[in-house]
Amino acid sequence: MASKNFPLGDFRFTGKNNGANILAKCTICRNVFERSEFTVLEDQARKTTLHVTCRKCNTAALIFLSVAQDGAVGLGIVTDLNREEAIKMFGQEAVSADEIIDMHQLVSKHEGSFTDLFKKIN
Ligand SMILES: [Zn+2]
Repeated sequence: MASKNFPLGDFRFTGKNNGANILAKCTICRNVFERSEFTVLEDQARKTTLHVTCRKCNTAALIFLSVAQDGAVGLGIVTDLNREEAIKMFGQEAVSADEIIDMHQLVSKHEGSFTDLFKKIN
């Protein structure tokens, strides 16, 4: 089966066998990442988020993979998050709409300085 090159974001993915075998290269130094260098941050049915740090140039990236009927699509972005920071960030829950509304109501009803507001919150 023919391979295709997908120049996406700052990383290049090479898909073979309908995307079942995906190689990611560092766009800075062209180093090919090894499977063991990826850290899975999130793994859902058709979407996986990975972190990788290039062993040659030390560039870190977040990689978002989506699996569709005709293969896998990947998007990589360079990040300043190291592996531990990425794990911590992805492990946290997103802020809910209710929490945003609560905060808006708290701020809009408050009279006084922000220093007083933060004292009230703590
Ligand atoms: Zn590199």
